[in-house]
Amino acid sequence: MASTEPAGRPGLATDKDQLAELHAGSGGAVLVPTMGAVHEGHLALVRRAREIADADGLAVCVSIFVNPIQFSPGEDLDSYPRRLDDDLDAISGLADTCYAPGAKEMYPDRQEVFVHAPVLGSQLCGAHRPGHFQGVLTVVHKLFSAVSPKAAVFGEKDYQQLVLIRRMVGQLGLGVAIESVPTVREGDGLALSSRNEGLRGKNRKTAPKLHEALCRALDEVRDGRGAKESCDEAISGLASAGFEVDYVECRSLGLSEYQGDPADCIVLGAARIGGVRLIDNVRAEA
Ligand code: AMP
Repeated sequence: MASTEPAGRPGLATDKDQLAELHAGSGGAVLVPTMGAVHEGHLALVRRAREIADADGLAVCVSIFVNPIQFSPGEDLDSYPRRLDDDLDAISGLADTCYAPGAKEMYPDRQEVFVHAPVLGSQLCGAHRPGHFQGVLTVVHKLFSAVSPKAAVFGEKDYQQLVLIRRMVGQLGLGVAIESVPTVREGDGLALSSRNEGLRGKNRKTAPKLHEALCRALDEVRDGRGAKESCDEAISGLASAGFEVDYVECRSLGLSEYQGDPADCIVLGAARIGGVRLIDNVRAEA
């Protein structure tokens, strides 16, 4: 079933049996998990999946599921953009199949068993979104069970998520190769995100300041200034620009404490502007 240029729209499956039928005869799949409202950032992942799939005779499967258990009460689960039809158009010619299960397919019973990463999962974004990474890891594990992919592609924009997924795959022995793709940005530096649709007028103009602040902090740390001091300054600059800052932190690339080696350094941040939560990260080029 894998082909260099699949003609037209991907085959759509809303349950595991339909998906197995669509994948019958393929050598396996490369999975790109998303929550939909597809943008160029997602498409960069799908293109990478296409390259891997074509090299190995596999199919590309994009999953679209807005996962309720990774949202806390009061977050934007209800207002999260949903437009499956447009998404199918956007991935046409790149993906072979789209797995878009409903909530009942993913959670037929009250979920009692979770994939939990209590240490890293409760730091950085996890400190501000309790249960978020448990929800993410659990749904990714379920998607891996449904699709049985040989490989899966994730964005470096969600860096903590990427590190946790690599850890889950390694420590639970899931046997899925994890590939990552650099963050795709607007011309002014703002990382593409489905949530950016909620940014209007002045807030949209201010939003790129998050990326600017992280870049400045990274430069300072690389120039030998203290990591905490540089991040604190980024936080106060962002607060003055109108952001409600969750955190700006400097870490090692494995997300342990920064040890003072600028080559092993990433600055991560999350902040809200006009009610929209933005996350981003920057690190030294390899
Ligand atoms: P989401 O639909 O927001 O859950 O994202 C699905 C996947 O796309 C995740 O692996 C994200 O890290 C990735 N992604 C989202 N935005 C971007 C971006 N601007 N650049 C690269 N990857 C992204």
